[in-house]
Amino acid sequence: MFLTIPELVGQNNDSLKLAKESLHFGFYSTNGDIKVLDSLATTLENNYSRITNHLGIQINKKINVKVFPNVKAFHAAINLPDAPDWVVGKGSANELMMVSPLNPGSSYTYESLMQIIVHEFVHLAVYYTRADKGMAGFSKWLSEGYACYEAGQINEYIRKSIESSLSEKVPPTWTQLERASEIEFGNMNGYGLSITIVEFLIVRYGINKLVLLIKELENIETIYGLSKDALEKQWIQYLKHEQIE
Ligand SMILES: [Zn+2]
Repeated sequence: MFLTIPELVGQNNDSLKLAKESLHFGFYSTNGDIKVLDSLATTLENNYSRITNHLGIQINKKINVKVFPNVKAFHAAINLPDAPDWVVGKGSANELMMVSPLNPGSSYTYESLMQIIVHEFVHLAVYYTRADKGMAGFSKWLSEGYACYEAGQINEYIRKSIESSLSEKVPPTWTQLERASEIEFGNMNGYGLSITIVEFLIVRYGINKLVLLIKELENIETIYGLSKDALEKQWIQYLKHEQIE
């Protein structure tokens, strides 16, 4: 699939061009962002083997990474001109796209965008892992939770915010998370909740079962030997630091 990059908003005469290559990636940016490409390349290469090994895949081609100079140009490129500022990266089957860490917008920092590029790479790697099965109907909590987990996006702030929201209301169910649109998902704290689901599944049952789940989501009850409801109950107990039955 080929993708045309629309003219960059507010960037006269400055379009994305191939500006750096590393072992597994080719980086496209404007002249103004060339100085951030070394750091992006190091970050991606440092995470590449762990993620492809976890998933048991080999990606036999270079992956293009497109770095957009600002949030507005990125939203134009992904055809979501009205997206909220927290939409700053996209990982598809063929390439990674992101907002430049040098100009992260109102929702992120340089450091958090360095995690987001890893997050987007995980999405691409999961596409490869699913192969012919594709991503239609794939679970949003598994997709986002695993990407956040590998990108190291869980922190004490997220844990505490999930924990304290639990004392006020019941969290959305896994099915509700699965059915939410991209924007609804963000607004219901879907990223924070999803990362705790994936963390729970890995801490309690190991990474191998999680990878099997990524490949065969429909077999969740066979893989874990439990109903989805029972797993969901265990997750809530895990969040509340209760003994898991
Ligand atoms: Zn994501």
